[in-house]
Amino acid sequence: MTLEYLVSLDMKGIHDYIFGTNKLREIRGASVLLDRLNRETPLNELCSGKYGQQGQDWIPIVLGGGNIKVLFRDKAKTEKFKNFLEVSFRKQTFGSKVSVTVSEKNGDNDKQWLKRIGREIQREKFLRGEQNQIMACSFFKACKACGLYPAEHPDTRIKKIRYICKSCYKKIEESEKYKNLEIYKELSKTRNELKLPREFSEIGKESKPEGYMGFIYADANRMGEYLSKIKTFNDLENFSADIHKSNLDATVSAISNNFDSNYLPVQVILAGGDDLILALPADKAIDVAIDFCGNFNINLSHREISTSAAIVICHDSLPIKNILDVAESLLKNAKLESRNNGGGTYIDFIVTSGSALEDPILKRERELTIRDSGVHRVTKRPYSHEDIKILRDNVKALKKNNFPKNKLRMLYECLFSGHDRSMLDAYYFKTRLSERHRELMNGLKLDLFPWQQKELSEYTTIIADIVELYEFIH
Ligand SMILES: [Zn+2]
Repeated sequence: MTLEYLVSLDMKGIHDYIFGTNKLREIRGASVLLDRLNRETPLNELCSGKYGQQGQDWIPIVLGGGNIKVLFRDKAKTEKFKNFLEVSFRKQTFGSKVSVTVSEKNGDNDKQWLKRIGREIQREKFLRGEQNQIMACSFFKACKACGLYPAEHPDTRIKKIRYICKSCYKKIEESEKYKNLEIYKELSKTRNELKLPREFSEIGKESKPEGYMGFIYADANRMGEYLSKIKTFNDLENFSADIHKSNLDATVSAISNNFDSNYLPVQVILAGGDDLILALPADKAIDVAIDFCGNFNINLSHREISTSAAIVICHDSLPIKNILDVAESLLKNAKLESRNNGGGTYIDFIVTSGSALEDPILKRERELTIRDSGVHRVTKRPYSHEDIKILRDNVKALKKNNFPKNKLRMLYECLFSGHDRSMLDAYYFKTRLSERHRELMNGLKLDLFPWQQKELSEYTTIIADIVELYEFIH
C-alpha cells in the first residue's frame, strides 16, 4: 500500500466556537454543525467518486471530535481534499479556527511519520496564531447573540426581531437538525418519540429543587500518552473508532438509565473523541456521571483507558461559558488526582450558588483548609469512582431516614472550630441523636469523628460534601 500523503484538520478553540453564546439553541446548533463537518461532510465528499476508491486511493483514519485525518495515494487529490475542508469549514462555521495541513511520508516508517505529523500540526497552529476576527469597525452593529461579528441577518424566529451575525444565524438553523446527530439517533432508539428542551431553563425546571442545572465534563485520562505509543495508521484508525464508540455507548446508556420518558431534559453539548459535555437537571448529575464513567471504563478496559469527570451544579441562568471554566478547573484537578494515584477515575464536583467565579480549586484551598494541630481538609474531593458511589449512597441513606438537614448543618459548623473543639462538639452532637441517626453517623466511617485520619497529621471528612450535595441527591 502506498498511501503517502496525509491531510490533517485540527480545530482550535472548539469550546469558544460552541459556547459563543449563552443560548441552548445556538449551542445545540454549533454541536450539530461540527458533528456533521467532522464526519458526514468529509465522508460524503470522499465517496463522491472524485477521489477514487476507499482503501485503495484513500483511507479515513480519524473523523470526529474536531479532528480529521485522511490518507491519500495521489498528491493532487490530497490538495483538492485539503481545499475542500478549508472551504467547507470557512463557509459553514465562519468564526471557527481551523488549521489544515498536508504531510508527505518521505520514506519514513509510520511511527516516524506519525511523530512528525504531530510536530507539523503544532507548528501550523503556532504560525497561524490567534486569528483575531473580532469586529473592530464602528460602522457595523454587533451581533445581538454573540457580540463578536457584524449583525447581518434578522433573527425572526423569536418574538422580538433582533439582528445577528452569519455564524449565529447558521447555528440557529442547524439546531433544528439535531435528529441527524449520531447521539440523538441512538437516544431515539431508547424511547418512542424523542423531545428535547429549547432553553437551559427548561432543563432547570425538571430538577428537584427547581431552577438548577448539572453540567458534566468528562475527558479520558492520559490520552496523550496512549496516542504517543501508536505506531501505525491502522492502529490509530482502530483506536479512534474504539474511543468514539465507547464514549457514545457510555453516554447513551448513562442517559437511558436515568431518564425514561420521551421528553429528555438533557443537552449533549459534545460527545466526540474522548470528550463528553452534558447539561442535565441538577439532581441527576451525580448518578449520570457515575454511570457514564463506569460504562466508559468497562468499554475500554481492554485498553486500560479510564475517564475522569467534573460536575458543576448551579443555577440554570448562570452563563454557560463561566460554568465551563469552573468545570475545566475541576476536571484538571480530578485528572491530577488520577495521575497521582497511578490512574483510575476521579470525579470532582461543586455546587455553586452565585456567579462569583474565582478558580474553584484556589477557593477550596483557601476556605476549606484548616490548619490547627495538622491540616484539616473540609472536603474529600476529588473522589474516586468507588468513593463517590459511597458518598451518594450515604446521602440517600440519610435522606431515607429523614436525617434533618439543620442537624447536618450544625455538624458542618463544628468542622471549622479547630482540631480538639471540633471533635468535642461533634461528640456531643452525636450523643443527642436518636439511635437510628447515630448509627448512620457511625456508618460514615470517620475514625476520629467528624474526621478521618489520612496521614499522621492530615485529616479529611465527607460531612461537608454530604451537606453540599444533600439537596441534589434523591
Ligand atoms: Zn453572532
